[in-house]
Amino acid sequence: MKLNDPTLFCADALVGGNWIAADGPDGIAVTNPADGSVIATVPSLSEADIQGAIAAAKAVRADWAARPARQRAALLRRWHDLIVENADDLAQILTVEQGKPLAEAKGEILSNAAYLEWFAEEGKRIYGEVVPSPAPDRRVIVLKQPIGICAAITPWNFPNGMITRKAGPALAAGCPIIVKPASQTPLSALSLAVLAERAGLPAGVFQVVTGKASMIGHVFCKSPDIAKISFTGSTEVGRWLIRESADDIKKLSLELGGNAPFLVFEDADLDAAVEGAMIAKFRNSGQTCVCANRIYVHENIVEAFAKRLAKAASELKLGSGTQPCVEQGPLIDMAAVDKIEAHIADALDRGARLLTGGQRHALGGSWFEPTVMVDVSSDALVAREETFAPLAPIISFSTEAEAIALANDSEFGLAAYFYSRDLARVFRVAEALETGIVGINTGMIANEAAPFGGIKQSGLGREGSRHGIEDYVEMKYLCIAGL
Ligand code: ADP
Repeated sequence: MKLNDPTLFCADALVGGNWIAADGPDGIAVTNPADGSVIATVPSLSEADIQGAIAAAKAVRADWAARPARQRAALLRRWHDLIVENADDLAQILTVEQGKPLAEAKGEILSNAAYLEWFAEEGKRIYGEVVPSPAPDRRVIVLKQPIGICAAITPWNFPNGMITRKAGPALAAGCPIIVKPASQTPLSALSLAVLAERAGLPAGVFQVVTGKASMIGHVFCKSPDIAKISFTGSTEVGRWLIRESADDIKKLSLELGGNAPFLVFEDADLDAAVEGAMIAKFRNSGQTCVCANRIYVHENIVEAFAKRLAKAASELKLGSGTQPCVEQGPLIDMAAVDKIEAHIADALDRGARLLTGGQRHALGGSWFEPTVMVDVSSDALVAREETFAPLAPIISFSTEAEAIALANDSEFGLAAYFYSRDLARVFRVAEALETGIVGINTGMIANEAAPFGGIKQSGLGREGSRHGIEDYVEMKYLCIAGL
């Protein structure tokens, strides 16, 4: 890897203003999923180190909260600009630890740096309220104040973007934040910490801790000084965080699993639907929480759609993300390969037909062929569980009501997609789908101006938009009497 600025490749955790290196064999090895090579070793911090990070955040909390929003915004804006200027280097670091193609890595970095810019501005507009009082001698005033010290636990599928999405609103609202990145991908988080320090964020305001997830999660949940935890990851760990922090009634934002349905109605533009399905399914090799997991297509067009999708999937170029023109990287690890294999075997057992893929790829390791199956049964494992891998299962339907019922038959409710050119149907279906996000005639939905988040067991809270900052403030009602 050849970086313009080699200091961005940093394997040290940031606690307060101190960079802590791995202590010999006790560290956590970071590997490149494209070839299994070890690229760095980050420290496995002790409980005392995590408490030290909380103490450092506590020391700076009041000062950070008291600064005018425009001062915090200026620092966030500088951090944003440094990320944009260094996006090529950050993309290389992301690709070697995560596997996605460089262009996709850079896209993740730039589109999520936008959350820093967005929230830097929103921080200036955390308005309170003066409410008309029911009593003549009273006034009712509502303040919105920073919630306090925040902790973020972030996943490996967007190692850079999931951090700026959480740090942006927290810091803009006046809250220090401690980030625990996924053990597979800590280097993107640490490169962001290098740039945060360079931008002038005071020590303790933005920290990155690495180490055993369950220990760090436990310390966050049990610390009376942590006011809020923002987590993106599996529903199982989300449930654990709720339980673990129940005693303290901790505030939680949770972006959990999805099982996104993707519906193609008879009146859809078929080319556009195939293009949208390719993005919604195969982006990041199928490893995003909003990836289309179940594709429902009207029976009259299912053969044509399946044929075109299989052709497009079979033409995807697989390879190490750092090579030019590559479109698909490896899966994150062998457990991911086991899961897609189990879903394929189960679908085949229930009568599905394989149109393309279905096998481990010749590149070995955790590489897997982009796979398309048709005639999948609606009770197959793949229709019930998130695959998180490049498997597109196509299930046919005959009526709109049936399609909606199938789409809503899930305990998850993050994203749904559908393709239709009938305006009345667009509104009917959009309103009937039980998800927090609906992509209509598009496979790409996230941006900083929109509220991203799920209903049902997909989570709590929203990231992005003017609503995103509300998760980082508390309301205080002032009752002024005797006037
Ligand atoms: P995935 O299946 O995508 O890896 P996880 O929910 O296991 O999703 O991981 C998401 C993040 O949660 C990672 O940073 C991981 O290290 C962290 N994590 C995993 N287990 C725990 C836990 N018990 N407590 C706190 N964080 C955890």
